[in-house]
Amino acid sequence: MNPMNRREVELILKNLNIKPNKKLGQNFLTDKNITKKIISVSEISQNDIILEIGPGLGIITQELVNLVKKIYAIEIDHRLYSYLNDKFSTYDNVEIIHGDILKVEIPKHNKVISNIPYTITGSILDKIFFRINSPVGILTIEKSIADRIFLSGDYKNFSRISINVNTFMKPVLKSSISRNSFYPIPKIALSLIKLIPRDKINPFFLEKEPIDFFLKFISGIMPYKNRNIANAIELFFKTQKDIQYTKEDILLILQKNNYENKKVFNFEIDDYTEISKLFYS
Ligand code: SAH
Repeated sequence: MNPMNRREVELILKNLNIKPNKKLGQNFLTDKNITKKIISVSEISQNDIILEIGPGLGIITQELVNLVKKIYAIEIDHRLYSYLNDKFSTYDNVEIIHGDILKVEIPKHNKVISNIPYTITGSILDKIFFRINSPVGILTIEKSIADRIFLSGDYKNFSRISINVNTFMKPVLKSSISRNSFYPIPKIALSLIKLIPRDKINPFFLEKEPIDFFLKFISGIMPYKNRNIANAIELFFKTQKDIQYTKEDILLILQKNNYENKKVFNFEIDDYTEISKLFYS
């Protein structure tokens, strides 16, 4: 199979009667140099089992197919799904799955490669990477989100996603990708990033419930990232019907565990896990 260029991508879409759908983040890669770069950054091995989210016309899939043990490619658009099913019908190491990545049961895999549908970046990170034994991720995402993932010490960029990703993953590469490498040309700037699972993850996260609590806790305090942690925690618990802590309780718990009552954004990444643990019951 030859790599596709822009003309070919446009032509195939036209033949399939597909007008790229913004809501589905349909911006198709048209630059084979970017495909090559994605493959090289992925450090592919023959044993890799790849999860590809939103394969589109299969431009990345076709580069991978002869290099890996197995590819599970999950595509929501049924027209693209049928197209891909035909295109890869002779390969028994490719399985095209028709469905929504956020809803389907995901087969076991060790690497995720995706030019992510930009509209659902947060939910994809949530579902795929925030757990123990998460896969390696090679992702094309919005530059503004990539900037939040790579902690720069910049308060403005420090957000919920900064804490969540860095709690579970180690971001190791960020490189900008020209918008002109896609059809249609996206309005947002994009970055290619690579995330690898952290060596050691807090055993608190062995179960799903603590992970859910942690994610809820971080979402609850980060809107107040400029306030003192005790205030932010108090405000978070005000939204929780079943559990109540008074401000005094919160201050006492923090103090007892040697956490200063300083501004939310001023802690080390792993402190957020420890602090959430103190309030998990
Ligand atoms: N990887 C391809 C296509 C990228 S466009 C390329 O680089 O050319 C994003 C793709 O994700 C589209 O094919 C779109 O239909 C698909 N998609 C969007 N939302 C999805 C979802 N929730 N689950 C699975 N696929 C989705």
